[in-house]
Amino acid sequence: MKHKGGKKIIIAVPHGFCAGVRRALETVEKALELYGKPVYVRHEIVHNKYVVDSLREKGVVFLESSSKLPKKAHLVFSAHGVPPEVEDDVARKGYDIIDATCPLVKKIHLQAVSYSSKGYTIIIVGHKKHPEVVGTAGQVDECHIVESLKDVEKLPEIKNKRIACLTQTTLSADDTREIICAIKKRFRGRKIAVLNDICYATQNRQNAVKALAKKCDAVFIIGSENSSNANRLREVAEKTGAKAYLISGEKGAPPNTLRGLKKIGISAGASTPEILISKFISFLNKKGWHDIETIGSEEKKIVFRLPERFEN
Ligand code: SF4
Repeated sequence: MKHKGGKKIIIAVPHGFCAGVRRALETVEKALELYGKPVYVRHEIVHNKYVVDSLREKGVVFLESSSKLPKKAHLVFSAHGVPPEVEDDVARKGYDIIDATCPLVKKIHLQAVSYSSKGYTIIIVGHKKHPEVVGTAGQVDECHIVESLKDVEKLPEIKNKRIACLTQTTLSADDTREIICAIKKRFRGRKIAVLNDICYATQNRQNAVKALAKKCDAVFIIGSENSSNANRLREVAEKTGAKAYLISGEKGAPPNTLRGLKKIGISAGASTPEILISKFISFLNKKGWHDIETIGSEEKKIVFRLPERFEN
């Protein structure tokens, strides 16, 4: 591509959709195809406004509770998973449940149940209100949730000699390491099982953003405000030394953020569709940014099987 005025765009690889998001979206599309509209989804299927709005237009209804569901509704659980009481409640009411929980989140549910049944006290490192953490916490009768070093200090004394630490899939790998160290220090002498559940997609995107941020004056992460992994990418870029912005991609860059820049980086959260990256690049093209290169390498393609009923 022709280099104009020394302005360069660098795109992080990998970026955007992960295997869990692809599976969740394909699940909803298949449900629409098979049952027709409306298909109900508990919570946003993935945390991206553009994706959610597009599905809404196709006849998907998003809701936070089952109280307004009509009889015989087809109800999809989002990629973030649900606590067992939600599953039991909708099953009891006779709805058709289609589970789009990411298999990597399901794995954490099983870890929680397994360690708890072996007598471990469970500590979850994650964001207290995030649906994934709510779903994991609900798997066991009792657990502690910490999202910062301060929270570790505030934990009550745990008498149990065995503790299992699980993590949310979309955390910052560096911050999580610090929190786990603090837990080990606080409960020195205990047997602590550390299950680092930050998923491959989160880790790979963060590594690529670190390399990206070292080369750029500013980094634009494309994703929605409620996307945990997109927010973490922005933080990682900032901590690496670049100016970093989280943007939707549809409206271009916020005013004045491009002024004086020579190299800008782009990445996207695991729930951001490629079309939003293309839209942002078109915006940049119009502003005179034409020279594009990539940094990083493609990740191994991972495909999760769809819920059984949709398999050919
Ligand atoms: S970010 Fe990771 S855990 Fe979340 S849906 Fe994607 S692959 Fe699954």
